[in-house]
Amino acid sequence: MTVLEADTRLGGTARTDTADGFTTEWGPNGFLDKEPLTLQWADDLGLHDRLSRANENAARRFIYAHGRLNELKGPPAFLFSPLMSAAGRLRLLCEPFIPQRTSPEPESIWNFAARRIGREAADVMVASMVSGVYAGDAKQLSLQHCFPRMYQLERDHGGLYRALRAIKKQDPTASPMGPKGTLTTFIGGMGELIETAGQALGDRVRLGASVKRVTPADGGHTVELDGGESMQTEHVIFAAPAFAVAGMIEAAEAQTAARLRSVPYASISVVCLAFERSQVKHDLNGFGFLIPRTEGLRGLGCLWTSSLFNHRASDGKVLLRIMYGGATDPGIQDLDDDALTALVAKEIYPILGISGAPTMCRIYRHGRGIPQYSLQHQQVLDAVDALEARQPGLHFAGNAYRGVSLNDCVVSARRVLGRIKAATG
Ligand SMILES: Cc1cc2nc3c(=O)[nH]c(=O)nc-3n(C[C@H](O)[C@H](O)[C@H](O)COP(=O)(O)OP(=O)(O)OC[C@H]3O[C@@H](n4cnc5c(N)ncnc54)[C@H](O)[C@@H]3O)c2cc1C
Repeated sequence: MTVLEADTRLGGTARTDTADGFTTEWGPNGFLDKEPLTLQWADDLGLHDRLSRANENAARRFIYAHGRLNELKGPPAFLFSPLMSAAGRLRLLCEPFIPQRTSPEPESIWNFAARRIGREAADVMVASMVSGVYAGDAKQLSLQHCFPRMYQLERDHGGLYRALRAIKKQDPTASPMGPKGTLTTFIGGMGELIETAGQALGDRVRLGASVKRVTPADGGHTVELDGGESMQTEHVIFAAPAFAVAGMIEAAEAQTAARLRSVPYASISVVCLAFERSQVKHDLNGFGFLIPRTEGLRGLGCLWTSSLFNHRASDGKVLLRIMYGGATDPGIQDLDDDALTALVAKEIYPILGISGAPTMCRIYRHGRGIPQYSLQHQQVLDAVDALEARQPGLHFAGNAYRGVSLNDCVVSARRVLGRIKAATG
């Protein structure tokens, strides 16, 4: 096996910087510890004792609305929360009486939420969560492909309240307040996973090896690199972004390539700032907060990294991670670092009562950071599935198809391994 990686390092958007007492992430912060395959992978790499789970206060999540931070609370406290208007809360209570949707047409996440729990809840709670996870626009993304479980719950139970009641019968600890599992990383950050996996692969990894073209050859495939080198192989696993894979298969599979090229990607900018504890008035006791687009700010949300995980900032300092851009604000990529940090100062400092300049600032930009599963995404999946069926030696993994989280990517890799094992006996 050979891993061909175009970059000079492994990991794609997963990368950690550790310097001057701060550990900051370029991309993923962690993963939910609910996926056994990810935990198994960490175990296999000998990283079990390096796992670092989020502190208990991570359960406290906030939404910035009406000019203040509102803690997200489950029922019945939610009914008294100023997060939404009385009319909005009443509308949410009507959810059990909303009929099940019968149309087979794809539905956007926003439409689903507005239909079931009301437009205000869709804007304030659901759309901000979508920008937190997908950096996406809830009105453009497919419910079925981004949140398949939510989609299935309505189909199986007729509605969300009824689904929650059924789930609670089986698991009394189930909560409507967020996904199952604890956010987990490694003591040295997500980069530790990448580096250890890279060491385990050893000289099977080739860095700076950009794949140009993959074409069928006798009983297998020819893989051509940008530098002109080519190699023969029986199986090819495509794990690059959809637009990159489109270029690789264009010559042999023009229609599938066109489908892959149609997958939109959202850009995202991550601003990591550190302060002396005394510079920040807010107690930062929690996960952080999301900002609904209806608030008129450009920031998508702010994670209180040093509250979430140990080993992220030295004593007496706090580390924050603020997200900008996403599908609803691609123009943020045009702001230079000074303009971006000025924007953080204008928008985020007043919310947390921050005074003075940060003691550390790192900015990470991802031009085409996160794939967006649009209302046409099923056509992408159908095209990829058809190609895998037609050409049993071609396999698709990574975040462009069936889930963007690290857990989803691990599941997609295991699926491909299963296919190859089955093919090779
Ligand atoms: C800012 C940000 C925050 C996130 N936070 C979280 C989080 O907290 N939790 C979570 O679970 N997920 C999170 N995600 C999502 C998750 O990190 C990604 O979906 C996942 O890491 C993607 O992995 P991937 O390997 O599919 O794609 P990528 O990371 O995009 O990697 C693709 C790789 O393909 C290589 N490549 C491209 N073209 C070629 C070519 N021609 N030849 C060879 N190689 C090529 C690239 O160099 C790159 O290394 C986040 C993503 C971002 C951007």
